[in-house]
Amino acid sequence: MSLLAGKLGIVFGVANKRSIAWAIAQAWQKAGARLAFTYQGERLKENVEELAGTFGPDTLMLPCDVTKDEDIARVFAEVGQKFGKLHLLLHSVAFAPKDALEGDFLSTSREAFRIAHDVSAYSLIALARGAAPLMTEGGSIIGMTYYGSEKVVPHYNVMGVAKASLEASTRYLAYDLGPKKIRVNCISAGPVNTLAARGIAGFTDMLKHYEAHAPLKRNVLPDELGATGAFLASDGAAAITGQVIYVDCGYQIMGM
Ligand code: NAP
Repeated sequence: MSLLAGKLGIVFGVANKRSIAWAIAQAWQKAGARLAFTYQGERLKENVEELAGTFGPDTLMLPCDVTKDEDIARVFAEVGQKFGKLHLLLHSVAFAPKDALEGDFLSTSREAFRIAHDVSAYSLIALARGAAPLMTEGGSIIGMTYYGSEKVVPHYNVMGVAKASLEASTRYLAYDLGPKKIRVNCISAGPVNTLAARGIAGFTDMLKHYEAHAPLKRNVLPDELGATGAFLASDGAAAITGQVIYVDCGYQIMGM
């Protein structure tokens, strides 16, 4: 029996085939889940249609800018109509203005701070609130985070602070939603070469640094993030909530 047979899920954050969201969506689909996808705007519509279309011609694809409450309300209304219920939600969305990821953290503007937190952290709360009424049989909500939330990673700057907020939000949501059997967890991924990652100054050096210093002496593969996503979505993780799971070839344990 497939791990996620009969499960209905929604995936936020596929931009292209390199997106972590796409790796997790593929793993969820292989495990038997039926999925809906969202994309931020017309610019990404074609990409998402091409990828998600491989899951079947009737795959639900909806526009959603996660900073817009009306978009979020429409997405869950349509998912409710089409699926009737929901079990899985992947939040794989983050953004900070480029200049905030280049200079020093001290220079972070009020606006860059606001945008980074709105898109990358508050959106998890808004999406969980939209999804919860549909998760009538319990559910699994997963967010994507990074180690820059707890240690200083040069250039990660305001995104590190937003990820700290995302991780804390995960714990508070896990507490609120636990009685409804809805679990909320984060996967803390090692660096993966994606569109968003390339916006971080010095990203290529980061990949080399992990290869040299992580216990496994390599970088994480997208498929491995997919496998963790499938595990966290499955009954095997039924007692895991509010956690940050490191999928980073062991880098997080190192002191030096
Ligand atoms: P990605 O493919 O560029 O995905 C980021 C997604 O966020 C894109 O689909 C992007 O859409 C979307 N997004 C940004 N602003 C949005 C908004 N207002 N509304 C809706 N969607 C919006 O990059 P990724 O690396 O897979 O990132 C996915 C997640 O993994 C992020 O949370 C990231 O911080 C996290 N993560 C990444 C790494 C890594 O090394 N790559 C490591 C740890 C954690 P647009 O392209 O339209 O902006």
